[in-house]
Amino acid sequence: MNTTPCIITCAITGSLPQKADNPAVPVTPAEQIESIHAAFEAGATLVHLHVRQDDGRPSSDPERFAEVQDGIRKHCPGIIIQFSTGGRSGAGRERGAHLALNPDMGSLATGSVNFPTRVYDNAPDLVDWLAAEMRERRIKLEIEAFDLSMIFQAAKMEADGRIQGPLHVQFVMGIRNAMPVDRRVFEFYIETLKRLSPQATFTGAGIGRDALTLARWSMELGGHVRTGMEDNVRLDKTTLAPSNAALVQQVVGEMAAFKRHPASVTEARALLGLPAAA
Ligand code: MG
Repeated sequence: MNTTPCIITCAITGSLPQKADNPAVPVTPAEQIESIHAAFEAGATLVHLHVRQDDGRPSSDPERFAEVQDGIRKHCPGIIIQFSTGGRSGAGRERGAHLALNPDMGSLATGSVNFPTRVYDNAPDLVDWLAAEMRERRIKLEIEAFDLSMIFQAAKMEADGRIQGPLHVQFVMGIRNAMPVDRRVFEFYIETLKRLSPQATFTGAGIGRDALTLARWSMELGGHVRTGMEDNVRLDKTTLAPSNAALVQQVVGEMAAFKRHPASVTEARALLGLPAAA
């Protein structure tokens, strides 16, 4: 059967403090590296990374990012490393200090949105600064689109040179107080992105109970998928699967039904226009 490659992103940890005491969520650098390695062996070729202090509070310490990045590069050859620039909303340019470590990719939300208990704050000057840092360092962006305006903003930034294309956009659905999981809106996101930026690639990310729904839609409609504990720890501390690797296996198990296969490192890098692994 002819299948097309699908990049699996594993968002292993996230930054919400209340998730840190869950044994399924890796916290220390050693735990993170081990969890990424297992997810990589299961088929993930892109890791979305937040780091934490040992007590679980979110951290933006570049030294922690460096430690995890070194471990990943050693144990998971060629995996695409994406640093989050979110998760520390309100911290200003601290959110980009770790970009000096030159990861393959960095995430960037191109607007603000309500989250379950707060505003995810992305002021225009901070968005521009983060985009400029990444452009200068040739770090590929992943646009985090929490609503339609963020897709338009990303396309505008690509058109005027603030972002180096082609765009890679992640559509996030299912966060309480933000965009719900809605098939017609998801299709309209894709249609709009392709109209504004025809070379763009996309990923579907669903939160909590909707994680698999978005993965299936995205596989069906030619996109890529994201899974991982960042999106899958419920407030009652239950998880959709016991580990990051198990979440990746769950997605891998669905692929054949959509004529997709987990992208190899080589395929994932080519699809995203990244240099081949050293
Ligand atoms: Mg994140």
